[in-house]
Amino acid sequence: VYQAKQQYLPGASSHAIAGSQAAPSSHTLEFDVPAAAQSALRASAACRIELRCFLASELCSEPGTTRRNHRWPLQTRLLLNGRETPVSQQPQAWDGHHLKDRHEDLPLILSQAVLRPGRNRIIMTASDSQPHVCALVMTEKRTIEQLTKQVREEQTMSPSAALEHVKATFGPQPVDDDDVVAGAVRIGMLCPLSMSRLRIPVRGSSCRHLECFDLSSYLECAQSTAFPRWKCPLCSAPARPDQLRVDVWTARVLEQVTDTNCEVEVQPEGEFAPVTPQPEGSGGSVARKRRRSNPGGGAGAGAGSAPTPAVQAAPPVAHSF
Ligand SMILES: [Zn+2]
Repeated sequence: VYQAKQQYLPGASSHAIAGSQAAPSSHTLEFDVPAAAQSALRASAACRIELRCFLASELCSEPGTTRRNHRWPLQTRLLLNGRETPVSQQPQAWDGHHLKDRHEDLPLILSQAVLRPGRNRIIMTASDSQPHVCALVMTEKRTIEQLTKQVREEQTMSPSAALEHVKATFGPQPVDDDDVVAGAVRIGMLCPLSMSRLRIPVRGSSCRHLECFDLSSYLECAQSTAFPRWKCPLCSAPARPDQLRVDVWTARVLEQVTDTNCEVEVQPEGEFAPVTPQPEGSGGSVARKRRRSNPGGGAGAGAGSAPTPAVQAAPPVAHSF
């Protein structure tokens, strides 16, 4: 998994590309590769230099809450030190009336064989009416073990913050007796990616839902692709490794509810109790999940959208902390 380093290349590391309606516009981006960086790039696959490009309008949105699609200007042609370098670009579809939204393009890894010590030059020509911003990023390879250690040691929520998050997923608390009180919700203990039991429960820092996914499963999925999307599998919020948060509240639930088949009923104040799904026709009392109000705008999908199983409430042993 490659992550951006907090290290900038000398020279112009970013460049604005104004939109143009008429003829293709040409842009020159010059940057220096220090000799030491060049030998590091050649010596191993631990580092690489990527050129990334985004719609300027997407960069204006609030940082951290919106994931930016990587996107080259239409009809991009690119020369790196005079050598034609193809970029991976989705074709622009036309439905007879409108240009249809394109899927995401891939960033460009600058070939180490073409990069040289000292001054390098990229010339990009494109024909796109919308302005873009491109940036050179030096990235370094991190192993799953390194990222797991970083997330667990530096990005674990405090117990009080984790409990506040749980309460917040139920929406604003009623201010007078006439307000509707939020009902309990039921969550599973399985990771939505691996469908196996959660081990290290995490969410993105801007996620507003109660459910978690498993850190190891998430990083393994990311490692299987050259350019991970880094978005929450439950709500699509941005979830780069540095934006992940380990949820100690769910970790506590996992410690106390050891039956993998269990679901857990959670009260608005954060108390929880296990409920065991019963096979159909077993005569257990049938309860329906209550859907909570969803202030996150669809962020609470997951357990709440699953078919409702027949369930039998476990003995009323409630836990809280
Ligand atoms: Zn999410």
